[in-house]
Amino acid sequence: MIFGILNQKGGVGKTTLSVNLAASLTRDGSRVLLIDADPQGSALDFAAARESTPLFSVVGLPRPTIHKEISHLARDYDHVVIDGPPRVTDLARSAIMAADVIVIPVQPSPYDIWAADEVVKLVAEASVFKENLKAVFAVNRKIANTAIGRDVGEALESYHLPVLATSITQRVVFAEAAAQGRAVFEVDANGAAAREIEELKNELVEVAQ
Ligand code: ADP
Ligand code: MG
Repeated sequence: MIFGILNQKGGVGKTTLSVNLAASLTRDGSRVLLIDADPQGSALDFAAARESTPLFSVVGLPRPTIHKEISHLARDYDHVVIDGPPRVTDLARSAIMAADVIVIPVQPSPYDIWAADEVVKLVAEASVFKENLKAVFAVNRKIANTAIGRDVGEALESYHLPVLATSITQRVVFAEAAAQGRAVFEVDANGAAAREIEELKNELVEVAQ
């Protein structure tokens, strides 16, 4: 399966979810490739920060040719995760055309909900060519027990795309793990962050089928 983690808004958690999803799929025994489609190369930085053996392969491909190269790139892998770019529309479009499932991270903030309309439009455009394209929202950086956390699902309803049941809570361990090029489960195996990522991965694998 090819998962595209996309949202032209920066800072919503595309890279955080991409690396942890890739790590979680790897832990299940799958061969995973992470494609960094962001010219800033954050997923490549993540890989470079790691001292131990990499969990999965990471390649940088910040060019709007991902959809043309994907079948070649994906050949030796069970799953591919594409960490999407901010802004650059032609890159985002290419990543969407390459993917089977689009995951749109959004933070529970009205600005993020409004900003999602750009990526939703790109997904709608691509759906014309790709009948089986699936797209879902994933709420990230939810702050536990806040009204805005609860209301976000309702606010997203206007987009007519499903919202994953699993949301990812705001937790310092995500930044701590990233600084060492590690997945959250490597830093705190039994922690709540690792559990949420595991649930997110399970839900996405189900959506992909
Ligand atoms: P994007 O790739 O969409 O620009 P990032 O994944 O780089 O977003 O996340 C932006 C910042 O927010 C990073 O500093 C990251 O560590 C932090 N972050 C993302 N998700 C979470 C979370 N669930 N809890 C805490 N910090 C998070
Ligand atoms: Mg990023």
